[in-house]
Amino acid sequence: MYKRYIGVKFDCCHVYTRVYMNKEETAYEGRCPKCMRTICIKIHKDGVNCRFFSAI
Ligand SMILES: [Zn+2]
Repeated sequence: MYKRYIGVKFDCCHVYTRVYMNKEETAYEGRCPKCMRTICIKIHKDGVNCRFFSAI
């Protein structure tokens, strides 16, 4: 089973926050708490190997 959330570092504002899985369980979706920029990390069927991501 996938983790319900992952930790993401937002390089735009240098903040770290949790990003939660969407209800379809197809991606982690979240937004930067400072500038409200959205990110989406797709979940592959093999799973997400790395627990931490940086928003590009
Ligand atoms: Zn930001």
